Amino acid sequence: MGRLEGRVAVVIGAGSGIGKATATRFAEEGAKVVCADITGREKEVAEELRVGGLEAVSAYADTSKTADVQSLLQTTVRQHGRVDVLVNSAAYRLERANFVDIPDEYFDNVIAVNLRGVFLAMKYSIPIMIENGRGSIINMASVTGLRGAPRAGAYAASKGGLIQLTRTAAREYASQNVRVNAICPGVIETPRILNAPIPEEERQRFVEHVPMGRMGWAEEVAAMAVFLASEESSFVTGAVLPVDGGSSA
Ligand code: NAD
Repeated sequence: MGRLEGRVAVVIGAGSGIGKATATRFAEEGAKVVCADITGREKEVAEELRVGGLEAVSAYADTSKTADVQSLLQTTVRQHGRVDVLVNSAAYRLERANFVDIPDEYFDNVIAVNLRGVFLAMKYSIPIMIENGRGSIINMASVTGLRGAPRAGAYAASKGGLIQLTRTAAREYASQNVRVNAICPGVIETPRILNAPIPEEERQRFVEHVPMGRMGWAEEVAAMAVFLASEESSFVTGAVLPVDGGSSA
């Protein structure tokens, strides 16, 4: 028996990095996974899982758009009967700039995907989970949501807001058995970091402050997501859990 046997899990941002690793681990643990993204890579991820004999489907959904999020969740309920787990792993592309140089439009786009997008997915999945009698929501925040982050002001603000969305929803829906937790990854080796337009010296500085002396792997974050999705975390809600090699210690 897998740790998520029979669970229905929606993973938004499943086309790459941490979302892809989480969708994969969930399917390996016996979940039926809905892989959502905007790039088309969600189809490849779901197809790879099916070829491996696991249960997965894909869906196009822009998490910043109300209609897309509603349609994603309604389709999931039509196909699978419920939503047990929601993972919010989508994030707008990373650009580094000092505060006064952040373009207004970039700030709006970051908030639209990283904060509004998660708000929408939570808002429309919580009633489904309440009806179902249980649910686990896992939000990918960041260690930059815990403190100021030079040259990443919009991103840090979105992740700080996401942590408070997490804590608020956790308190509001605890009595209805809907758990809401946030993971704060440190620097994780994913396409987001590897392909970002960041000068090499700046990228190297990312790991200088990590006590474990390396970037993390998407699979190490996915392992925490499996714990939060499963019954092993049945008394854990409103938690903000770093997976960061000790950098926030
Ligand atoms: P990634 O860029 O590899 O994957 C993010 C995925 O989200 C992509 O497939 C992208 O297409 C998708 N996406 C973007 N906008 C979307 C939208 N509007 N609707 C639906 N999908 C959308 O990133 P990652 O490194 O795997 O990061 C995953 C999460 O973890 C993000 O929330 C990120 O902020 C967070 N995080 C990552 C790191 C890191 O070092 N990689 C550190 C801290 C936090």
